[in-house]
Amino acid sequence: AAQDLVWPLRRAVGMYGRSVAVVDGATRLSYEEFRSWADRIAAGLARRGAVRGDRIGVLGANSAEYLAAYFGVPAAGFVLVPLNARLADVELASVIDDCEPAVVLVDEAHRTRAESLCESTPAVVVDFGHLLDDPIERVDPAAGADVGSDALAAIFYTGGTTGRAKGAMLTHGNLAANAQHMIAGLGYSADDVYLHCSPMFHLGDGMSAHPMTWVGGRHVVVPRFDPAAVVQAIEAEGVTCTFLVPTMLTLLLEYLDRTDSNPDLSSLRLVVHGGAPIAPTLLNRAMERLGCSFTQSYGMTEAGPILSFLPGEDRLLGSRVLRSAGRPVVGVEVRVVRPDGTDCEVGETGEIVGRGPNFARGYWRQPEVTRERFRGGWYWSGDLAYRDEDHYLYIVGRAGDTIISGGENVYATEVEAVLAQHPDLVEAAVIAVPSSQWGEQVHAAVVIRPGSATTESDLDRHCRALIAGYKIPRSYEFHTQLPRTGPGKIDKLALRRPHWAMLE
Ligand code: AMP
Ligand code: MG
Repeated sequence: AAQDLVWPLRRAVGMYGRSVAVVDGATRLSYEEFRSWADRIAAGLARRGAVRGDRIGVLGANSAEYLAAYFGVPAAGFVLVPLNARLADVELASVIDDCEPAVVLVDEAHRTRAESLCESTPAVVVDFGHLLDDPIERVDPAAGADVGSDALAAIFYTGGTTGRAKGAMLTHGNLAANAQHMIAGLGYSADDVYLHCSPMFHLGDGMSAHPMTWVGGRHVVVPRFDPAAVVQAIEAEGVTCTFLVPTMLTLLLEYLDRTDSNPDLSSLRLVVHGGAPIAPTLLNRAMERLGCSFTQSYGMTEAGPILSFLPGEDRLLGSRVLRSAGRPVVGVEVRVVRPDGTDCEVGETGEIVGRGPNFARGYWRQPEVTRERFRGGWYWSGDLAYRDEDHYLYIVGRAGDTIISGGENVYATEVEAVLAQHPDLVEAAVIAVPSSQWGEQVHAAVVIRPGSATTESDLDRHCRALIAGYKIPRSYEFHTQLPRTGPGKIDKLALRRPHWAMLE
């Protein structure tokens, strides 16, 4: 069925035009006003020369404007490219170089950075505010662009193992399918009030923009995750649902323990968590403290992003399957397979592969990686899992070398390549070590050229200039040589063992 991202907002305006659609600080927009914002963003981009198919970058904190861009940009046939503000300048520059945006939309706080990043590119940096100050112009995307379900709606960049980020190409149909899977899986309705507190440049938050609008629910926006602001927004706006990565849950619980006031969080009905493995003790504490249903979600950018949720009847404290990443949502096929593609038995660990109308068309301008990851009609996740006899999935790890720190993916090979650029480095192995705050933290085992005086802080400074802060090793160990499993192969299991011993 042909479905595009014009539908959700059109339905909401038709059925809930006067209801509050978006709350962002002092800004409160009805669905009619919200559509007008989306239209003005689309019209303003066209006026600045953007044409159908052009990529439109967005660099900013969460805002009502950012949310409006989620609708206005694709509705007019442009391609939304949310930019991860946490990346280092060199990394952002390589993303901009890869997708060649016609325009980069920014908020005031990100304008200078965007201008210097776009200086030697054709991209124009435009303030959201300027687009909204333009005279109101009703553009009917249906009459104008008539985008259709196969048109590219967005490119979301996800980390690359070799330093080059991969842009997952998601069509209107992909994101519309994900929206429907989420509505069915989470029971979203017009009574829901959704808190956008995870960054809008990731699908962990972006995945809720379309389904919440489709059902006529209300969006509440905070600029970034901050426990005090989250608690305040829940109380003031009667938030019913949100998405949090485990690190945010930890920070939220710490804040609740610290604060003297006794905030009323009783409006919450459902916390969706995911993006990284959650410790059972954290999950139990969070469920006790927040007193609402919790559902683990499993997915990835390439799937737009949802593959599975823990079903409603299992979302209660004490449930036997609470630790599970749930069952595949209606509409997505999920298998656990052996390297040769045959199905694993119940309880046997293999790689998760998935397919469905939500899966990306591939990676922007990277046909080889696309062929490798989207083999034989399935997306190969690199995630290791098993399923029980009832098709509940249990994620046990990752086939590759990914570290998930605070919900952000870090590829060990990328950090190793950056360390290798240091003149005094002989070799390095980057591994995940446990962290109560970040889930996992980036740790480097290094061998330094004999006689050199290079220290931990020299390596730190070196990395800081080249990669995002969350990818930089938080700790180091110095070796004279690294353990090996065979010629050329560093034994990362041996390096990991002492760090994880107490948890195994
Ligand atoms: P991203 O593309 O940044 O959304 O990251 C996707 C990756 O996050 C997946 O391939 C998994 O490795 C990991 N992930 C997502 N959800 C979960 C979960 N519920 N438990 C463990 N890992 C997860
Ligand atoms: Mg992630």
